[in-house]
Amino acid sequence: MSSGGFRALELRGVGRRFGRHTALQGLDLSIRRGEFIALLGPSGCGKSTALNCLAGLVPLTWGSIWLDGNRFDQLPPEKRGFGMVFQNYALFPHLTVRGNVSFGLRMRKLPKAEIRSRAQEAIRTVRLLDQADKLPGQLSGGQQQRVAIARSIALEPSVMLMDEPLSNLDAKLRLEMRTEIRQMHQALGLTTVYVTHDQEEALSLADRLVVLRDGRVQQIGTPEDLHRRPATWHVADFMGFRNLFRLTATGDAEHGQRVALSGEGLEFDATAAGTLRRGETVVAGVRPEDVQVLSGGGPDAPATAAREDGRTVLDARAQVVEFTGREFAVQVRIGDEVALHLRTPQRLVAGEPVWIGLPVSRMLAFPQEVEPGSVPWVGAPTAGGTGTGSPIDPGAGPGPGSGAGARPGSEAVSP
Ligand code: ATP
Repeated sequence: MSSGGFRALELRGVGRRFGRHTALQGLDLSIRRGEFIALLGPSGCGKSTALNCLAGLVPLTWGSIWLDGNRFDQLPPEKRGFGMVFQNYALFPHLTVRGNVSFGLRMRKLPKAEIRSRAQEAIRTVRLLDQADKLPGQLSGGQQQRVAIARSIALEPSVMLMDEPLSNLDAKLRLEMRTEIRQMHQALGLTTVYVTHDQEEALSLADRLVVLRDGRVQQIGTPEDLHRRPATWHVADFMGFRNLFRLTATGDAEHGQRVALSGEGLEFDATAAGTLRRGETVVAGVRPEDVQVLSGGGPDAPATAAREDGRTVLDARAQVVEFTGREFAVQVRIGDEVALHLRTPQRLVAGEPVWIGLPVSRMLAFPQEVEPGSVPWVGAPTAGGTGTGSPIDPGAGPGPGSGAGARPGSEAVSP
C-alpha cells in the first residue's frame, strides 16, 4: 500500500508496553496531510515510542493506525513510505554527500537519470550543492544533519518522521537548522512528525503540538492554544510558567472564573484553569514576564499586600539580579519561603524591596491532578540564581529550582 497523497493519518488508542512498563497509552491523533506535528515532553515520556510505532519500528501493544480509512499498523516499515531522520545522522562515512543521498534511490533500482536528478534536487533543497562531493567526515554536524534530511526527502516520503534531529548541534546551529526545517516544510509541504523535548523548538516549528507525560497525552493543540491555555500545570510548566506554587483554594470556581487562593500566609487571586472546590489543593502558575514590578520599596510603598481588582500586589525583596541583554531576570523573595522569578527592564538591586503585581488573568490555578506524595517539593530561593533563559527556554529545565532548592514544606512545586 502506498501512503502517497493521503488525506489523514489516524492513530487510535495507540499504546506500547515494554515488559511491565507502559511507555505510551491511549494516543489518539489525526494528522492531516501537510501538517507539522511536534511530539513534546520530558525525557522518557514516550515521544520516541510514539514515533517508532508510527514508523513501524515498534509493534503496537494497543490501538491501531489508519490511513484514509485503511488499517496501516500491520505494514512493515519499508512499506509505509515514511522517511526518518534521527539524532545521529547515520550516514555512510565512505560515501560522498551525493552517494549518501542517492543510496536509497539506488536501492529502489530507479533509472540512473532519475537518481541523479532527485539527488541533485534534494541536495539543492538543503543548500549543500557546493559540498556534494565531500565525505561526511569533512562536514560540520549541521551539514551532516542536512545530508540526512536530503537523503530522506530524495525518497519523496509521504510523511517525514524526525526524532530530535537537532540535539547534537550547538545552540547557534540549532537555531539556523530550525529555520531551515521550517522553510523546507513550507516549501515542500511535507507532512512531518517531529520529536523534541525543547518547547521553543516545538512552538516555533509545529502547526500542532502533542504534549506527553508518563506515556499519556496531556494536551494536543496549536502553539497558541498551549501557550495561552495550558490544560494542566505540567503543560504550563513546559510552556514557560516557571513560577508554580502549591496553594489552597479558599472558594469554589469553575473554569475561567476568578478564584481566591492562600498559602504561606499569603493570599492570591487567580483564574481557575479547571473546576476548583474550596479547600482543594491547587497548583497556581505565572510566567516570569507576566509578573509586574510596580515600584521600588521605600516610604511611599503600600504597607501591606493588597488584592486589587485585576491583580494581587505583594511586598517582595529582590534577591538575585541577572542582566540578560535586553532586560533583567530577577529572583525575588516574598516572605521567608516563597521565591518568584520575574523579568523586567527595570534595573533592580539585590536586597532592594520591591512591590510586585500578579495579574489575575495571568495567574492560572490548576487542579493538582496527581497524588500529593508524587509531587516533589521544591522552592526555597535557589542559590544558583534565576537562570537567564527566556520563559520558554529549553535550558530552564522543568521548573523553579528543581533539585537545587529542594526542601520539604515550601510552596513552590516542580514536576
Ligand atoms: P527521550 O527524550 O529521553 O528519548 P522519550 O520521551 O522519547 O525520551 P521513549 O524513548 O519513548 O521516551 O521511552 C519511554 C519509556 O519507555 C522510557 O521509560 C523508556 O525507558 C522505555 N523504553 C523505551 N524503549 C524501550 C525498550 N526497547 N525496552 C524497554 N523500555 C523501553
